[in-house]
Amino acid sequence: MTEQDQQTKAQQLRLRRTLWGVAFQVSTALVVFGLYLFEMLPLTPVLIYMVAIALTSASFVTLIRTGRNLRFTDPSMTAAQIVAPLWPAILVMFFVTEPQVRTAFLLTATSGLVFGMFALSRTGMLMLSLVIVGSYLLLLIALSVWAPERIDWRIETILVFAYTAVLVTISYLTSYIAGLRNTLREQNLRLNDLVCRDPLTDLPNRRSLMEQLAQETSRIDRRSTDRQQLCISMLDIDYFKRVNDTWGHDVGDAVLRKVGAILTRSMRKGDFVGRFGGEEFIMILPESSLETATMFAQRICQTIADAHFAELPDGEKITVSQGVTEYLNGEHIDATIKRADDALYEAKHAGRNQIIIKAATTPA
Ligand code: GH3
Ligand code: MG
Ligand code: MG
Repeated sequence: MTEQDQQTKAQQLRLRRTLWGVAFQVSTALVVFGLYLFEMLPLTPVLIYMVAIALTSASFVTLIRTGRNLRFTDPSMTAAQIVAPLWPAILVMFFVTEPQVRTAFLLTATSGLVFGMFALSRTGMLMLSLVIVGSYLLLLIALSVWAPERIDWRIETILVFAYTAVLVTISYLTSYIAGLRNTLREQNLRLNDLVCRDPLTDLPNRRSLMEQLAQETSRIDRRSTDRQQLCISMLDIDYFKRVNDTWGHDVGDAVLRKVGAILTRSMRKGDFVGRFGGEEFIMILPESSLETATMFAQRICQTIADAHFAELPDGEKITVSQGVTEYLNGEHIDATIKRADDALYEAKHAGRNQIIIKAATTPA
């Protein structure tokens, strides 16, 4: 999956979570409307509540839709999405004539907090709990000043105490679950590395080379133009067996690592290199004509021939041979690899430290 695809997927996920949040806001808006119908709430706070909720929900959705959320430290805007509906709810709680109804709003703020599980640390969750309880305490102070008849301190004391305990428990439990999610994600990444990387050179292995080739070729096949847009080069270190036999396997390993590093460094954006096996590498060069691929391969041969290998005695050089070919639209990828391999074989026979180019139309 490319970086672009990953980002699109992450944005879709953020949008989906935000829409869950919006659906939840709609349900609390219905509760507020019910309070108005049952004459427990005057019209003005109801209207303010509706407008505030509509505006904040629309802003969050728009920010994600336009990609402007990506500029924030937390592009999911989790804390903001939890806190934003809190103030309109506090307003409703202030005006509601039946004090017991406030409990319903405390419950909704609790569900809001659970959304924090997706992005917040334990400290973040506890801070948010503090903001929620703190806001409720401010509400109680405001009520005691302006509407003391709507407050029963015995009930409120019990409520605040129980509510704080609930929020702290939720913060701990959700951050524990978030920790498990992270561990799982890290393990997945490590597993993916184990399956797709060659441990010696740290390059993509044969499996990921084949996956990458399949992806690139299917992209070209979908576009269905006759221009060749993909080239590959198969590279093999010359007389590598001699390196092992003369200076030992460890030196051979070091040479493989260094060649791998040179290849990685030489790649342009969008190119892909992997270890195909033994001392053979494949470079995938998308959007390349046979001419540019050839120039690129020549530069690689030169860079490696010029490179200093610290593990080898002074003056000892390493050279490589390459077979370069293009992908013919619609052909099996094994046919492309076979052509590159044949070209490589010819390069070896022609004396090594060189490249042979085979166009797709060259008869086998
Ligand atoms: P040519 O120029 O024809 O390619 O000759 P060569 O000696 O490079 O080719 P050959 O295929 O005969 O030898 C490849 C050697 O690469 C044999 C194998 O022991 C060695 N080799 C394969 N994998 C590794 C590895 O991971 N580490 C080390 N040190 N050697 C390896
Ligand atoms: Mg070799
Ligand atoms: Mg070989």
